[in-house]
Amino acid sequence: MQLEEFLTAAEAIVGANNVSRDPTTGAPEGLDGSRSYGDPFPLSRPHKPGPAIRPETVDQVRDLVHCANKLKVPMWTVSRGKNLGYGGSAPVLDDSIILDLHRMNKIIEINEEYAYAIVEPGVTFIDLYEEIKRRKLNLWLSVPAIGWGSVVGNTLERGIGYTPEAAHYKYQCGMEVVLPDGDLLRTGMGVVEDSKVWPLYSGGFGPGLDGIFFQSNYGIVTKIGIHMSPAPEAYTRIIVEVPEEPDFAPLVGAMTDLMRRRIVANPPQLFDRMTLIIGAARMDPEVAKALGEYAWRAGFALYGPPEAQAGLLNTVKRRFEQVKGAKLTSETFNAAPGEYLRSENITPDFLPQNGVPGIDHALAFSSKEDGLWHNCYSPVLPPSGRELYEWYVRAKKITADHDLNFVADFHVFDRYVISINLIMFHPPAKARLYDVQYALMDDSKKLGYLEYRTHISFMEATAVNQTFNNNAFGRFTTMLKDTIDPNGILSPGKQGIWNSTAKSERLGLGEK
Ligand SMILES: Cc1cc2nc3c(=O)[nH]c(=O)nc-3n(C[C@H](O)[C@H](O)[C@H](O)COP(=O)(O)OP(=O)(O)OC[C@H]3O[C@@H](n4cnc5c(N)ncnc54)[C@H](O)[C@@H]3O)c2cc1C
Repeated sequence: MQLEEFLTAAEAIVGANNVSRDPTTGAPEGLDGSRSYGDPFPLSRPHKPGPAIRPETVDQVRDLVHCANKLKVPMWTVSRGKNLGYGGSAPVLDDSIILDLHRMNKIIEINEEYAYAIVEPGVTFIDLYEEIKRRKLNLWLSVPAIGWGSVVGNTLERGIGYTPEAAHYKYQCGMEVVLPDGDLLRTGMGVVEDSKVWPLYSGGFGPGLDGIFFQSNYGIVTKIGIHMSPAPEAYTRIIVEVPEEPDFAPLVGAMTDLMRRRIVANPPQLFDRMTLIIGAARMDPEVAKALGEYAWRAGFALYGPPEAQAGLLNTVKRRFEQVKGAKLTSETFNAAPGEYLRSENITPDFLPQNGVPGIDHALAFSSKEDGLWHNCYSPVLPPSGRELYEWYVRAKKITADHDLNFVADFHVFDRYVISINLIMFHPPAKARLYDVQYALMDDSKKLGYLEYRTHISFMEATAVNQTFNNNAFGRFTTMLKDTIDPNGILSPGKQGIWNSTAKSERLGLGEK
């Protein structure tokens, strides 16, 4: 009854065309041309999406929140719902309404001089890149490997790109948020009417609130500011390969050292032979054969004036001479004198270090029963390479013991490594995904590590590992949830955060 009343009210707010009572229609196009809501790679637990609602304005979002409170109907927010490998647009709690913000797709501002943009949730990386290109702006945008996702959703998930602004959450500046009671808040300097520094200074006066809206269910983000790189005059892409498995430990140590010294600005990506072969085999079998001669390959780049490139490159070369067996190759692109490089004039890299978004990396996958599926296991490790190697050997064995392949996709930052085991599998193997994921989580716990992000099926089991001081973090997040969202209407169970009253809803969720 309440659901019916809610859907009728929602139709009055957003129009009947923008309510999908049947969640197999209405989503932005995804794998295999599907327009269905939900997880394209569902594991054993369904996480069934309820009907979907697609508002177009902030006022509509606020009206929907008021209705949801009145009728106590839970809504799961997505911006584009392309969270592949982590649950797509599926909710933790079965039958939650999917609040799909893809129609809120305005690029509010792009500022070339200060290199920032302010966007609504429906704006994809491809949209923003195309607009920059159309206006011939001298800006390079950090984009993830697949560009059809939203700047807002990816940033809120602390997603990763490949230019110097790759840690997207660190380059977010200013948010507008609909709170669980329907109020509208701006963070940072956005607290001032018509602020001129909202997208420039990420601090504010008083506590920083932006952090509580990352990976949370405390609000619906309706705008964010994001920083970009001014287009460089020169760009050098570098590949370093090492011949033997254990060689990757000093390779990682060298890369993170160069990052801490600000010689290398973007996070190197590190792949093992398996990842490279899978990636390259889609393109050219001959390339795959050549790649197979090396155990590990790292890719990164230098961005900056031409005078600096040669010096920086020499420094990088000198550092890698200390790594046994390392082979370095590089390629430099220079703009015409007095001009800046355009992203689109750089021939494509394996990953978009030049900031050009695409969807090629999605093409290997299909949500069909005979397709290739995947699930990410993504702990955060220290940067020396020693700990990463120790964890890798253990995690690879655990993965093989479950008759699955470890597919390394490591994102190397100055003081940490996001170490993604990009497990790819055919659907009949999905039962083993639970076992391997739990085994990997248990092992990481012994080593003192936690994931940076996780699939909806494992949010509960990951959150229970936040045990410091008798689960102080969980006690605080629950208290906050109870205080600002007493009816539990926003994304229940997101990152393991629930109201204290939610007992039956979470029953069995953290179990295999
Ligand atoms: C082959 C492959 C490669 C990939 N490569 C990368 C990569 O390089 N880097 C990377 O980061 N990811 C990568 N991904 C994962 C994923 O595809 C991207 O992160 C994608 O951008 C996420 O989808 P989205 O932006 O549409 O977010 P959404 O699905 O819209 O949002 C993700 C989550 O954020 C929250 N959220 C979204 N919008 C809001 C809002 N407005 N208010 C409050 N909460 C909100 C919700 O909990 C939602 O479930 C890859 C996936 C695959 C399959």
